[in-house]
Amino acid sequence: MEATVNRTVIRLVQGDITRQATDAIVNAANSGLMGGGGVDGAIHRAGGPAILEECRRIRDEIGRLPAGKAIITTGGNLKAKYVIHTVGPVWHGGTKQEAETLASAHIESLKLAAEKGLRSVSFPAISTGAYGYPAELAAKVALQAAVDFVGVNTNLKEVNFVLFDSPTYRIYADMFSQITQKSN
Ligand code: ADP
Repeated sequence: MEATVNRTVIRLVQGDITRQATDAIVNAANSGLMGGGGVDGAIHRAGGPAILEECRRIRDEIGRLPAGKAIITTGGNLKAKYVIHTVGPVWHGGTKQEAETLASAHIESLKLAAEKGLRSVSFPAISTGAYGYPAELAAKVALQAAVDFVGVNTNLKEVNFVLFDSPTYRIYADMFSQITQKSN
């Protein structure tokens, strides 16, 4: 499903983010930036060693990447030219500013994409796997952050959310309908 918000198409698809042909894909990385499980592992496997090499250089320069921040590297062998690595919050029951951090992870990623002059970017369901963020709550924060960003920034033509499994897709799609109906 998709909707046009201001000048940008926001689209939800079920699939594998490593196969997306957007200018950038976003990685749900961890602060160490050295790869991991889930979508992070899949991106490094598909993209090859050039991504990890650049992550290592960046980590040597800036240290650990705090939750809510983002950096950008090559896309290596991926169709996407760039990977934007961001760190979502670990879910602690909602009392540790998880929503603010998750919103920030999206906004910082979108800012990097816009600064680079990119036209299209794809997000996975950040924090909803190993980090334990309930998908309904994550969907609301992630989609609202994207809607808010493209409401004032018109450089990006396409923001995709690529949901790996069909239950997660349904949850994001239902939330997206609610959010876009409200703003129309
Ligand atoms: P986090 O540590 O931020 O929770 P995970 O990688 O554990 O990150 O999970 C985030 C989401 O990414 C989960 O919904 C998981 O199903 C999904 N995911 C895993 N592999 C892929 C993939 N190849 N493409 C898109 N989404 C994926």
